[in-house]
Amino acid sequence: MAWYPGATKRELQPESDAQPAIRPTQLICHSIAAPWTGQRIYEYWRDSTNLESHFGLSYDGSLFQFIGTQTRADANASANRRSDGTGAVSVESASNLEHTDPWTDAQIDSLIRLGVWLHQQHDIPLRVCRAWDDPGFGYHRLFAKWSIGGTACPGDARVAQFNDRVFPGIVAGAGGSPSTSIPAPRPAVDLGDLVAAATSDPARAGTPVTYEGTRTVENALVAEGLLAQNLADGHYGTATVRAYAEWQRRLGYQGADADGIPGRDSLGRLGAQHGFTVV
Ligand SMILES: [Zn+2]
Repeated sequence: MAWYPGATKRELQPESDAQPAIRPTQLICHSIAAPWTGQRIYEYWRDSTNLESHFGLSYDGSLFQFIGTQTRADANASANRRSDGTGAVSVESASNLEHTDPWTDAQIDSLIRLGVWLHQQHDIPLRVCRAWDDPGFGYHRLFAKWSIGGTACPGDARVAQFNDRVFPGIVAGAGGSPSTSIPAPRPAVDLGDLVAAATSDPARAGTPVTYEGTRTVENALVAEGLLAQNLADGHYGTATVRAYAEWQRRLGYQGADADGIPGRDSLGRLGAQHGFTVV
């Protein structure tokens, strides 16, 4: 297991010994929706939940490491450890309670240094992940499979900083040059997850009420003039069903084929016009 020399080591047990090995191929950045120090994040993982990250980042830029980077941590749903043994390294960072605030300059500097080390230590390639299992760098809400039931983590300010400062800083710090051959990632909507959200009863326990893929589709329906902006809430309810059925009728579907439940063709055509892919 590898421990980053730039972090204070607070090894989390029993997770550190008990969890399986991974070959780290990604770094996923998070905001923890609490203004905590790395030490406080450690105590939270130790005492309150076992959904830990590898790293915790304070507002002042100090970094703590809880799990070796070649051991699974549990912050990224399907990306924690894939069936081929690869997995994501995760860093939680102090934020306000709504995780809407930007990273501090000190946090950005720390994220860049961590990213450079991960590139050098584990050969994580200098690109933004193009799919949920594609090696590279990303942030939690980039792919639906990196969360359970969708996430708004991190907020818009930090997504912008990731694209404008953190990722370019990692590339520059690693001595690489920003690749122009790799297109900016487009959000991926998981058709199966979307259909599940569209056909489930939100009141039922365990049903995802908020799913980032739903919000992506709703925003496209808003842009098409089929859904009111305030109804793009990440909840695939009656209004979204009605708006999506109207989209299907525009495409020529009729009757039961225009029932408001997405299919691969209608969703793919919506995504082609509004910048998302369907997986
Ligand atoms: Zn997160």
